[in-house]
Amino acid sequence: MVALVLEETKKLALREIELEEPLGPHDVRIAVRTVGICGSDLHYYQHGYIGPYVVKQPMVLGHEASGVVVELGQEVERLKVGDRVCMEPGIPDPNSKATRLGRYNLDPAVRFWATPPVHGCLRPTVVHPASFTFKLPDNVSFAEGAMVEPLAVGMHAVNKAQIKPGDVAVVIGAGPIGALTALAALAGGCSRVIVSDVQQAKLDLVVKLGPIAPVNVNERRLSAVVQEITEGWGADVVFEASGNSKAAAGVFELICPGGKVVLIGMPGEPIAYDVVAAQIKEAQIENVFRYAHVFPRALALMASGKIDVKPLITETFAFQESLEAFEFASRMPPSSVKAQIELP
Ligand code: ZN
Repeated sequence: MVALVLEETKKLALREIELEEPLGPHDVRIAVRTVGICGSDLHYYQHGYIGPYVVKQPMVLGHEASGVVVELGQEVERLKVGDRVCMEPGIPDPNSKATRLGRYNLDPAVRFWATPPVHGCLRPTVVHPASFTFKLPDNVSFAEGAMVEPLAVGMHAVNKAQIKPGDVAVVIGAGPIGALTALAALAGGCSRVIVSDVQQAKLDLVVKLGPIAPVNVNERRLSAVVQEITEGWGADVVFEASGNSKAAAGVFELICPGGKVVLIGMPGEPIAYDVVAAQIKEAQIENVFRYAHVFPRALALMASGKIDVKPLITETFAFQESLEAFEFASRMPPSSVKAQIELP
């Protein structure tokens, strides 16, 4: 089949590649329709590695996907041929201890699309376990279906934050994950979300999504805005979604006494933070790694209209234009959030 292959760092090709796709009894074969370009795809393209994961041989990119079921394994009952679906890209070992504890995203043996050496889904078909394949509600498009994966990160972060109705949250970073976390926080009961970024165009887009207070940190101090909005008390929850080490180190200034911090962004280096600043507020610190058990809830929120991701899908490319799509996404203008690729 013809797939988008990362040959080596900075070298992509849309070319024929031999991929084994045996259909197990609990699997479905899916014709891929829409794939979002993620920061991790771009990072592998530009640098060839993320932390311990190194691209050592040609690898198909892509992990944010939707499609149509075209073939069923013998034992599959929950899905049928023709179903429109989206796919959770990380498959754990069903017998591992982490999986049995319900924390399958932490299974060291998880096989995640486009994380070396596992091929991704920028290709015409994939075979996937039915239990990690979710039917799209009729009013959810393929493009929206391909947004469920990044939205799942925000949903998982909101679960970790245990938001209460009326909470005020801060989201640092208005990229795809920050914007989707803000949407998840509002759907989860926040009365208001303060979103900060350095790019005004991103904030202009995000502010249209709901009761969001934008803060351009080039112009205003985030802590001053948080103090103003919360009458000096501080935010109930701070989601760090920028991966900026300075921003991550400054989160305790923003929370209220007893407040929570959820670290989502991945800084490029270890960060030093002020332990005493965290202690005097008894800050609760949570970390997220991908997500578990949230795809159906994300789809339910999209179907009900409580979460609308459409404004965040700013560019669409055809599969034949995949190389241009990656070039574009590598030099994304500030007004863009999520670029997607559509397969025929
Ligand atoms: Zn992603």
